[in-house]
Amino acid sequence: MFLEVKKHLAKLALRGGEPVRKKPFQKWPIFDENETEALKEVLESGLWGIGGSKKAEFEEKFAAYQHAKYGVAVTSGTAALEISLRALGIGCGDEVIIPSYTFMATSIAILYVNAIPVFADIDPETYTIDPKSVESAISDRTKAILPVHIGGRPADMDALLSIARKNNLYIIEDACQAWGAEWRGKRVGAIGDIGAFSFQSSKNITSGEGGIVVTNSEDLYVKAWALHNCGRLPQKAWYEHYLPGANYRMTEFQAAILLAQMKRFDEHTIRRNENARYLDNKLSKINGVKPLKNDERVTRHAYHLYIFRIEPEAFGGLSKTIIARALQAEGIPVSVGYSKPLYKEPYLEYFKKCPLSCPYYAKQVDYSSIRTPVAERACYYEGLWLPQYVLLGTRDDMEDVVAALEKVRDNVDELKGLT
Ligand SMILES: *Cc1c(COP(=O)(O)O)cnc(C)c1O
Repeated sequence: MFLEVKKHLAKLALRGGEPVRKKPFQKWPIFDENETEALKEVLESGLWGIGGSKKAEFEEKFAAYQHAKYGVAVTSGTAALEISLRALGIGCGDEVIIPSYTFMATSIAILYVNAIPVFADIDPETYTIDPKSVESAISDRTKAILPVHIGGRPADMDALLSIARKNNLYIIEDACQAWGAEWRGKRVGAIGDIGAFSFQSSKNITSGEGGIVVTNSEDLYVKAWALHNCGRLPQKAWYEHYLPGANYRMTEFQAAILLAQMKRFDEHTIRRNENARYLDNKLSKINGVKPLKNDERVTRHAYHLYIFRIEPEAFGGLSKTIIARALQAEGIPVSVGYSKPLYKEPYLEYFKKCPLSCPYYAKQVDYSSIRTPVAERACYYEGLWLPQYVLLGTRDDMEDVVAALEKVRDNVDELKGLT
């Protein structure tokens, strides 16, 4: 009896109360007759792969869009990262520095070329790789820095380029969340030596799956092209194979969809930025909620994710998992995102012998003793994500996000006891 009454009095939707919102947010992906027509054209041409013109057209347009000279369109962002590493000749015995707060693809690409991912910490205000941590991770084996433009926010490219120059290192940009993002007016991807983008289904421009390598170097372009096309070279015979490449070619169908998606991309990016600015302002006024800090050198944010931080003390000391569940029940598609730093993930076990303790490397990597305290705090306690399509909504949609956060924070006592 008493429990019944209590349930009726609960405010939070997770405890049976009325949710802030019942309407869905913007559906993703967005498409119209542009995509339908483009697909039909490819279908009817009979040129679905080699011999078609859409892939080359997309490579040229997308590379130019990112202020890069060359593009090679491939099967995924992971493949684009792997090809970028191979094009630079990175392999056995080499170390590559990455942030520990990123998607697993950043590290698996390195391990797939038999090189060693070395984990650096992130900046507490931006969640991008911390240049000081990068400097202290450099060894005589370091070949490259692989910054991630996380959530669509460019990493501190000034500091990273200067560290790379001083230590003779390559820079590979993981721009898999950062289409159109700009660092001091320059679009990401080819600010360093080479960069990778993804067009997987959740991404801001998508063809279901897909990726692209961009660079300003003709030499790296030719290598990346050969690596995605069975080691072939442009001027040589079809059955001659010069580089250790496999088949990573994008199809004409994917390229056709991406060309159509690019037409609305600027408009989408502008809307995401406007809504993000609105949320920054509103969320910074909620006690216990902290948006990330904007750096004025980031002249355009791609907002694949709207990442914000909560202060656990303001939320009754409850885990971010419970807070996220409460927000989801209110109708807000918040996610906890990365819930542990990459070096804690079980898949690393499979690389224990090679390359992590390979005689050729002649060093032993022990990921169990690594600590990156800022990334750990972000993963375990602080970091919450809103997906990009939420930012395509209206002002009212943003108000619902704000209202749900305030409501959960104000009624956090109702969540006590949940695990
Ligand atoms: C999506 C993503 C990738 C990999 O892209 P896929 O196309 O899924 O292979 C790599 N790095 C980051 C940071 C990503 O978000």
